[in-house]
Amino acid sequence: MQQVTVLGATGSIGISTLDVLSRHPERYGIFALTADRQWQLLASQCVQHQPRYAVLRDPVAALELKNVLVQQGCATEVLQGAEAFAEVAAHAEVDTVMAAIVGAAGLLPTLAAVKAGKKVLLANKEALVMAGGLFTRAVAEHGATLLPIDSEHNAIFQCLPNHRSDYLQQGLASSGVRKILLTASGGPFRATPLEQLRDVTPEQACAHPNWSMGQKISVDSATMLNKGLELIEACWLFNTSPTQIDVVIHPQSVIHSLVEYIDGSVLAQLGNPDMRTPIAHALAWPERIESGVASLDLFATARLDFSVPDYERFPCLRLAQEAATTGATAPAVLNAANEVAVAAFLQRRLRFDQISQVIESVLMRLPITEPASLDVVQNADSEARAMAMSVIGSL
Ligand code: NDP
Ligand code: MG
Repeated sequence: MQQVTVLGATGSIGISTLDVLSRHPERYGIFALTADRQWQLLASQCVQHQPRYAVLRDPVAALELKNVLVQQGCATEVLQGAEAFAEVAAHAEVDTVMAAIVGAAGLLPTLAAVKAGKKVLLANKEALVMAGGLFTRAVAEHGATLLPIDSEHNAIFQCLPNHRSDYLQQGLASSGVRKILLTASGGPFRATPLEQLRDVTPEQACAHPNWSMGQKISVDSATMLNKGLELIEACWLFNTSPTQIDVVIHPQSVIHSLVEYIDGSVLAQLGNPDMRTPIAHALAWPERIESGVASLDLFATARLDFSVPDYERFPCLRLAQEAATTGATAPAVLNAANEVAVAAFLQRRLRFDQISQVIESVLMRLPITEPASLDVVQNADSEARAMAMSVIGSL
């Protein structure tokens, strides 16, 4: 029986994870569930799954949760604060941690799980984008097992050779891989007339044609910054460089990514766009378990289309590719500026087309340094946030 901590239990990935876990009560016990402030939802998850601990960042929400759990006779112990996330991620009784907090807030608890040598299921791509070098070195040093939840990376992982240590030590080319084809749906604005992008609303940006996700990643998908973050994520996960990764627009989201080998073979992973597939894959790896996802109906799908990304439409993708090539703290700066810009867009303080302007302006103004320590990364993150806020104020 594996004990699982779900960081970000009340989010889109967290809810899908609990759905998969609850299909296999004989394999998985739930040790801890965490959230930022959504105490009502966390309370009902506690009543249903009876974890040992529930953690909230917000102190008022934590008090509410404590009261309601006492009233309901639920024995789950409530903890509060950012340090408690790391505690339940690194606890000696935990085997597996689902890292599904959104944004930079996920970095420290995810790193705590890595440093405790856990099996870490990584949805929180921002952690790897910010601190990929430090993160992957910690994985190796502490004997953690890092498994990708992002659907594209999970697909690539499934298409790569089983001997992961070979490509992690010597690079993908040594395993006969020519390149990775990273698929992207193109989001809700793939075909919207360019002049209309100025005025799109948060509701329109969050209405993804194929996936149901949290707000932040939905906006990232609409700008395609998400694909840029995923390119950086793939470089760290698979020990490769941006030049070995091609982004391919594939609007149906049925192929989740492909790997091309030097003999001309191209392997792809297909499935319905439902995150329970990669979640079940990573939870049970190297075994397979039921996820609750329906069979892929190829006759209903009927066709698969592919096209090259349009950089005029998606300037954020170009910015992320440039940050990937620059390396050092550029990806952390890009990520932080984007988080601030997306939050402002969701609060209707920034236009959709200004998201890329904010990121570009912050990247141009801030110095890029070697991310020698976590302090350097966190400093770059804070400076980029402050700079992004001032850029937004001036627009
Ligand atoms: P959601 O916004 O749906 O959920 C985010 C979760 O993180 C919630 O539980 C939220 O708590 C918690 N949270 C938010 N801010 C903080 C904070 N400061 N401290 C602690 N916890 C916090 O996001 P998603 O589930 O969509 O995404 C989670 C991660 O997975 C992201 O990194 C995303 O890029 C990645 N991902 C998601 C996919 C998807 O299909 N959704 C696909 C691939 C990757 P509360 O509910 O209280 O706000
Ligand atoms: Mg993805």
